[in-house]
Amino acid sequence: KKLGIALVGLGRYSKGQLAPALQKTENCYLAGIVTGTPSKAKEWQKKYNIPEKNIYNYENFDEIANNPDIDIIYVVLPNAMHAEYTIRAAKAKKHVICEKPMATSVEDCQRMIDACNENNVSLSIGYRLHFEPHNQRVMELGQQKVYGPVQTIEAADSFVIDDPSRWRLDKELAGGGPLMDLGIYCVQGAIYTVGETPTSVTASFGKVTKPEFFDEVEESISWQMQFPGGAVANCTSSYNNDANRLYGKAANGWWELSPAYSYSGIKGKTSEGPMNIPNVEQQARQMDGIAQSIKQNKFSRVPGEMGLRDVRVLMAIYEAARTGKRVTV
Ligand code: NAD
Repeated sequence: KKLGIALVGLGRYSKGQLAPALQKTENCYLAGIVTGTPSKAKEWQKKYNIPEKNIYNYENFDEIANNPDIDIIYVVLPNAMHAEYTIRAAKAKKHVICEKPMATSVEDCQRMIDACNENNVSLSIGYRLHFEPHNQRVMELGQQKVYGPVQTIEAADSFVIDDPSRWRLDKELAGGGPLMDLGIYCVQGAIYTVGETPTSVTASFGKVTKPEFFDEVEESISWQMQFPGGAVANCTSSYNNDANRLYGKAANGWWELSPAYSYSGIKGKTSEGPMNIPNVEQQARQMDGIAQSIKQNKFSRVPGEMGLRDVRVLMAIYEAARTGKRVTV
């Protein structure tokens, strides 16, 4: 049986990526939606043939507990809302996929993990690149020391925000700026290249060039992560330019993905030449992979504990940037 997924929050990512991907999945399908906007409910109901009884709003959301069509709740809301909806989903005894970053504090991440454990449901984070073959190749090259132990990593993920009204610039809802939204891909990329968690970080905020946009969250940030085996990662992330790269160097070779984190068109090369790996439907693979782990009662490849680990690193980076000191993770 295909597992039924309900998307919570029908914004850009749900509309542009997840719902279309759920038309191509084999282990799961779009069974329901949760939205505060009645006109969106109508539009989605028609487009995706969703039964009336599988449509919820934020007030009657908890009644989803009584709906056998819904197996998995996928939280695609602004970052600061992830904890509340993940915990309510767990209490409704539904498995959860929660978008990145998992939450805006380490404490919230822990509460989410506890709620899922107490209710015997699985918790996965929307880390699609763990299901993407170029990034999987980088995990292999780094972790299996194909060119020897990893020495340095360079990672950058940035885009230009041109609309100051977006929740991404609201500290309360976003938890922070580009580090929370994009820098998390650099943190992830470095960690899955090395296969270790960093022991310490140093960081600094970039200059604010658009104060009317960046009065609450950082405009840009650069940071370094030190790994126990000696590898060092140099990373940058900002909302004022375009960058998308993951580079790794080992004793006997190097590799580079550029772009590394996009939804499609990922390109890779190594010191031996082009990777020649096809691009895939990332979100379809990701949701199928997570649904399969639930069906087979196996551990998720992208569990809540991984989301917590990353938020802990993000918070250490912010502390390092604020204090100018090296912070132990
Ligand atoms: P968005 O602004 O397009 O959508 C957010 C949705 O939340 C909207 O439908 C909005 O109506 C709803 N919402 C409910 N309460 C809200 C409130 N109080 N304030 C603002 N919006 C409210 O955002 P998005 O780009 O779809 O991002 C949603 C989540 O998905 C974020 O956590 C983001 O980090 C994540 N995301 C992940 C990826 C990925 O590649 N994994 C890509 C994009 C976004």
